[in-house]
Amino acid sequence: MPPDGWFKRKSKFPQGQTPTVAVEVPEGVATKCARCGQILFTKDFEKNLKVCPHCGFHHKLSSQERIACTVDDGTWQPMAGGLRSVDPLQFAEYPAKLAKGEQATGLHDGLQIGTAFIGGVPVVLGMADFAFMGGSMGSVAGEKVTRAMEAGIAQRCPVVLFTASGGARMQEGLLSLMQMAKTSAAAARLAQAGLPYIVVMTDPTMAGVLAAYASLGDVILAEPEATIGFAGARVVAQAVAQKPPADYQTAEWQLAHGQIDQIVARKDLPQTLATLLSLLMARPAVAAGAAVLTPSVPALPGQNGRGLGLELSTEAGAAHG
Ligand SMILES: [Zn+2]
Repeated sequence: MPPDGWFKRKSKFPQGQTPTVAVEVPEGVATKCARCGQILFTKDFEKNLKVCPHCGFHHKLSSQERIACTVDDGTWQPMAGGLRSVDPLQFAEYPAKLAKGEQATGLHDGLQIGTAFIGGVPVVLGMADFAFMGGSMGSVAGEKVTRAMEAGIAQRCPVVLFTASGGARMQEGLLSLMQMAKTSAAAARLAQAGLPYIVVMTDPTMAGVLAAYASLGDVILAEPEATIGFAGARVVAQAVAQKPPADYQTAEWQLAHGQIDQIVARKDLPQTLATLLSLLMARPAVAAGAAVLTPSVPALPGQNGRGLGLELSTEAGAAHG
């Protein structure tokens, strides 16, 4: 038997004191959660759709990432990607900000629109990109929302818009504010055509966008803890001379006050959208992983027994003929 202490390595440091060692982590390997500060492996973080596994915080996604995790594989067809803002008021630094947004996102404005399938249901989809000037709504975003609605009407399919915006774009002044009326009128035309409109509010959905097309969905979903409101909390506190509650202008507060219909975790959004779309369009969801649903509600009268009767196939003529 060896004498005591032979196999015990003595620490160089006094008891309870271990040195802090600086560990070099190659860039891009780790990501820090913006809420709880936990260090996460970027690969796992991205696999988890940029939701922190420790605290559940939903970090922002680019419009491209959102498209990738929402639509059925290989079905995204962009529309109107070439639209660009002009500088009607010669607003200071506006061209530079547009150029910066283009550089950050590879887009010409903060909203992508196109067609896709979600759970086997054809849709016109709009995805806001907060990295382009805070997703602000100028003439281009307003035009794209309008074109999305018009494409929905022309193709007889529902419109789904994901919002992420600080509001109207001040650099275009009144032209930005005008988009509130323009997009609202387009949403009204979609409703008159009997076609569903679903909004998914992501962080943040504020001001002019909330007061226009974001609030007009037949069904309004939101991601957990998304900031949703009109004026900022500080402005509201000044206006009403009292402190708003701690959860003021969160998705949870808006749900409790009837502004939105459901809060859906990011990983559940494609399935929830597929279910809603298949019910609203009275057709089964067919994509892999999507539930196949048979609506239990009877079809509306005057719809030829086909619910909303909205098929994109050759049957469309028969449904409406
Ligand atoms: Zn976290």
